Amino acid sequence: MPELPEVETYIRELRPQLAGKRVVAGEVKWPRIIATPEPALFTELIRDRRFDTFGRRGKYMLLGLDSGETLIVHLRMTGEVRIHPASVLPDKHTHLLLTLDSNERLHYRDPRKFGRLWLVDDPESVVGKLGPEPLDEGFTPEGFASRLAGRTASIKALLLNQSIVAGVGNIYADEALFLARIDPRRSGGELSMPQVSVLHAAVRAVLQAGIEGRGSSLQSYAPPSGEKGSFQENHKVFRRTDLPCYQCGAAIRRIVLAQRSTHFCPQCQS
Ligand SMILES: [Zn+2]
Repeated sequence: MPELPEVETYIRELRPQLAGKRVVAGEVKWPRIIATPEPALFTELIRDRRFDTFGRRGKYMLLGLDSGETLIVHLRMTGEVRIHPASVLPDKHTHLLLTLDSNERLHYRDPRKFGRLWLVDDPESVVGKLGPEPLDEGFTPEGFASRLAGRTASIKALLLNQSIVAGVGNIYADEALFLARIDPRRSGGELSMPQVSVLHAAVRAVLQAGIEGRGSSLQSYAPPSGEKGSFQENHKVFRRTDLPCYQCGAAIRRIVLAQRSTHFCPQCQS
């Protein structure tokens, strides 16, 4: 699933492909892909709108339209947005087509159909419950500590909780915990303030490195340019089960925590 660095890469690559282009017509092929409003109203409201601003909140893309409304996209597992010449035909996994005034079409494609799109006046109605943006100044070690205080869940599960910090998913949670040398099974409320500070810095460092690598391309994921990201080459623990730890040589372990596969070094992380 695309996490903050992948979604940030998406927005950076969509901006030059989409900025200033106007929607001439919309066609919803699978109605449930549109969370709100009803598909007929969606196509009516988006017609004649121009793509104006490009933002991100957590794992959500915020595409601002010149009407003041925002098209919000969450790719979840297998969603992808591509801008193709009008001559490119949609395949059976394309659930939304937006015809643009540039003789191109935006294709929203999603084989597993977990992704969703919203067209709203106020983005807060969709993203308002998210925790702080980890790369913003508002995300502080003290604020992070107060959100973890008293929590008995594993620190891995708490990093995945979007109301504690937005945008971190399975890859970057495992990588941040390795960098901070913290065992993913420890309960979040038990971490000392120095450990929370180290983890706070580690979360920011792995996300920043992920953005610089244009994300991690695992399975089919690739940003809109189609050129895959490279951060998977820098993973220290994620999907390195049984391979030697780069720090100490011990075999990386894989366990299941919060129903998600979790990778860590049993020697370096305690
Ligand atoms: Zn190790």
